Amino acid sequence: MIQIIGRTAAEGYAQATVGFYGRQKVRVSAVLLLPEEVEEAISRFHEATGKAIEETDRIYQRTLNRLGHDQAAIFEGHKMILEDPIFVEAVEGHIRNDRMNVMLAVKTAGNEIADHFALMTEHPYFQEKAEDVRDICDRLLFILAGKREKNLLPDEPLILMAKALTPSETLDLNPEQIRGIVTTFGSGQSHAAILARSMGIPAITGIPLEPSYEGKQALMLCGQMDKEGLLILDPEEDQLAEYALKQKEAASYQASLKALKDAEDVTTDGRTIQLFANVSGEKEILSALDAGAKGIGLYRTEFLFMQRGELPTEEEQFEAYKQAALQMQGHSVVIRTLDLGADKQLQSLGLAREDNPAMGYRAIRICLDKPELFKPQLRAILRAAVYGNLKILYPMITSIQELMRIHDVMEQVKKELTAEGKEWKEVPEGAMIETPAAALISDQISRKVSFLSIGTNDLTQYTLAIDRQNEKLDPYYDAHHEAVLKLIEMTVKNAHLAGIPVSICGELAADSTLTETFLNMGVDSLSMNPRNILRIREKVRGI
Ligand code: PEP
Ligand code: MG
Repeated sequence: MIQIIGRTAAEGYAQATVGFYGRQKVRVSAVLLLPEEVEEAISRFHEATGKAIEETDRIYQRTLNRLGHDQAAIFEGHKMILEDPIFVEAVEGHIRNDRMNVMLAVKTAGNEIADHFALMTEHPYFQEKAEDVRDICDRLLFILAGKREKNLLPDEPLILMAKALTPSETLDLNPEQIRGIVTTFGSGQSHAAILARSMGIPAITGIPLEPSYEGKQALMLCGQMDKEGLLILDPEEDQLAEYALKQKEAASYQASLKALKDAEDVTTDGRTIQLFANVSGEKEILSALDAGAKGIGLYRTEFLFMQRGELPTEEEQFEAYKQAALQMQGHSVVIRTLDLGADKQLQSLGLAREDNPAMGYRAIRICLDKPELFKPQLRAILRAAVYGNLKILYPMITSIQELMRIHDVMEQVKKELTAEGKEWKEVPEGAMIETPAAALISDQISRKVSFLSIGTNDLTQYTLAIDRQNEKLDPYYDAHHEAVLKLIEMTVKNAHLAGIPVSICGELAADSTLTETFLNMGVDSLSMNPRNILRIREKVRGI
C-alpha cells in the first residue's frame, strides 16, 4: 500500500485503476508468428501506422486550436517517429527475423529506441524524445488492439493521473468512466477544478506522477475542499471498507436531499434567498433542473467556444441560448458574455502569450476590442430572449466607461437587428463585481445596470493579489478574508440603495459556513454548481 497526500480540488470518493492521461495500456501477447503469417503482420503494421498518422494529425489540429503551437509541436514529433525509417525497419525486422507478432514487434522496437534515447542523459531533449517514442508506440498498440482513438474515453473506469489538465481537457472527460482526477499541478480555484466539481469528479492536486502507479488499484478520499486529499495505491482491506462506508453515507445523504427538490429557499424566520445554478452547457442545465434550481444564475458561455476550439457562429449561439431559455421554462437564465483569457484560452483567437494573464487581456476587454466576437454573441442573446427569460451579464467590469462602451455596442446591435427585420427582445443587463475597483464603485455601477452578480473567485484573486491558477498560493487564497467580505457587503448595500438585486455566483456561494452571513447581508440569490444546490437549500431552511 502506498498513501500519498495531496490537496482536495473536488470533493468525493473514488475507487478505480490508475490510468495516465492519454496513456492507457493494452496487453501484448508473446505468441510468435508462423512463417506464412509474416507478410500479413507487416501489412497490419503499415495499416496501423497509417491510422496512427491520421489520428496524430487530428490531435495536432485539436491541440493547435486549443493550446497553441508549442503544445501541438509534440504531435508533429510523433508523426516524424512513425515515418522514421529507423523505427519502421526495426519493427519490420522483429516481425521478419524474430517472428514477433506485430504488437510485440512494435513494443520491442519502441522500447529499444526509447531506451537508447533515455541513456543519452546529457540533454533533457533526449529524455523527452524517449517519452515521445513510448507514447506513439502506445497509440499504435491501441490501434492494433482494435480500440478506439487513444483519448480520454477508456473502456474501464479510471482514476486519471496527469501533470495538469486544462479546462477544455476536463470538459472532454466522461464522468461515467473517469472516476477521479489526480494532478501534480493545478489549483483548487482554477476553472479545471471548478469544472471537475460540477461534473462530480473528485480531484486531488499536488501528487507527483510516478510511472509505476499506472495500472494500480487506487482509492481517492477527498473529504473537504482545500484540505488534505488522499490517494491510496494498492489499498488494504480496512481502507477499502472505509471507502465503502463513506460512499454509502454520501449516497444516502444525497438521496435524502432529493426530498428538497421542490422546496422553497426560505429560512425558518421567513427570509428568502433564491438558489440558482452555474452552468457551462446544455448537460448542466439538465442537472440544474434535476436539483430544483430556481434559475440559471451564471451561464459561462466561453465553454461553448472552448469545447469546439473555434468560434461558434451567431446561429449556433442563438440555438444554445434559445435551448437554455426553453429548458428553464420561464425561470431566469443569466447569460454571461465571453470571459476568455487567463486559463480559458481559445487558440483560434490567436491571442498573444502574456506574462501576467490573470491581469491581462481578458473577458470584456477582449469583447470591447473585437466587435466581430462581441456583436454576434449579443445578437444571439437578444434573439434567443424571445423564447424565455434571459438576462445578460458582463464579466470583469472595472469602470463606468466600459459600461458606456458596452451600451453603445448594444444600441448598434439592436438597430441592426431591427433593420434586418429579426425578432428580438430587450434583456435586463447586469455587471459582474469581481474586481475591487467594481466593488468600490458599485454605487455608480448599480445606477447603470439592472442587477449585480458578485464573482468571488476573481474578487478574492484580485483583492488578495493571489493568482488563482498558482497552486503554491492555495494556502493563501482565503475567500473568507475580511477584505473580501467587506467588499461583498459594500456591494450588496450599494445595489440595494439603487433598488437592484444582487447575487453571488463565485464558488463562495456554495460555502455553507457563509450562508447565514450572506442572508444577513441581504444577498438576494446565490448561484452555484448544481450539485450543491440541495445541500445549501437544506442549510437555508435550517436557519
Ligand atoms: C468568479 O470570478 O467568481 C466567477 C464566477 O467567474 P469565473 O469563475 O468564471 O471566473
Ligand atoms: Mg470570474
